[in-house]
Amino acid sequence: MALVPMRHLLDGAAEGEYAVGAYNVNNMEQIQAIMAAAKETQSPVIIQASRGALKYSNFTYLKHLMLAAVEENPDIPVAMHLDHGNSLETCKEAISLGFTSVMIDGSLKEDSKTPTTFEENLEVTLSVIEYARPLGVTVEAELGTLGGIEDGVGSGKVNLTDPDQAVEFVEKTKVDALAVAIGTSHGAYKFKDEPKLALDLVKEINRRIPNTALVMHGSSSVPQDLVAKVNKYGGNMPNAKGVPMSAIQSVIPHGVRKVNIDTDGRMAITAAIRKVFMETPEKFDPREYLGPARTALTELVARKMRDLGTAGHAGDFEQKSLADMIEFYREKGLL
Ligand SMILES: [Zn+2]
Repeated sequence: MALVPMRHLLDGAAEGEYAVGAYNVNNMEQIQAIMAAAKETQSPVIIQASRGALKYSNFTYLKHLMLAAVEENPDIPVAMHLDHGNSLETCKEAISLGFTSVMIDGSLKEDSKTPTTFEENLEVTLSVIEYARPLGVTVEAELGTLGGIEDGVGSGKVNLTDPDQAVEFVEKTKVDALAVAIGTSHGAYKFKDEPKLALDLVKEINRRIPNTALVMHGSSSVPQDLVAKVNKYGGNMPNAKGVPMSAIQSVIPHGVRKVNIDTDGRMAITAAIRKVFMETPEKFDPREYLGPARTALTELVARKMRDLGTAGHAGDFEQKSLADMIEFYREKGLL
């Protein structure tokens, strides 16, 4: 199967009442691990790259790694998504490289730090919709701001999504997916004490805009066994805390169709590499630590796919091209 538009996966997830994980990638081992997990669990998958990832790896390298993933796994539906696009220009660049989906994060200004007004968010989101929709490319937007900062993205302040604004925003933009702020946070230090999440807010927003896929950002669980493993092998991550999977699972029946996972994968890789370095300091072949890191990430992602309900759904999807999506948007009166 060639790449599919993300909207196709989100609609399938809505029908099957599950969520699709969106996993961040920067290099070959991460992409291979995610695809191995998707193959093992027969899951559709969203592979996403942040601007930081594209800068680190260079757009072209990452694009070809993603295309290799698709070529190697013809039975797995894959969407290629830009995470936290900061401007129309960045979204255009991703689309020109073959991404089938983009996020325009208009909750922050182009510096990815300063919160915008509702009107500013609306304006930049509309500009991306106007560009992407006639091409059949999926658009995710964000309303409200998350806590934490990751890859240089984030104001560091939580600003919960207002349901009235969500209704107005979706009516005006007709976005495919909306990232909502419910108290989650980017990074490995999401909460000082117990997690405080406005789960009822998801239910309320879903009640008001039931046909829009909701997206949870900052939703790594920061598994305590991984924190312990990182620290045991010389790391220093005191008080790292995340969003319990049970909390995520409780809102999947309420319209959450995409769950972003980055931090947990980073931790699985780091823990595995640290273990090799501590236990066998004589090793110097990168394959001897990147290999175990890849295996650890495969296990983590496979578990996420089962927990999010994605497992077993790869076969539900027919091939859909961007041209098919243009037709779909026309029929729905969205274009
Ligand atoms: Zn995010």
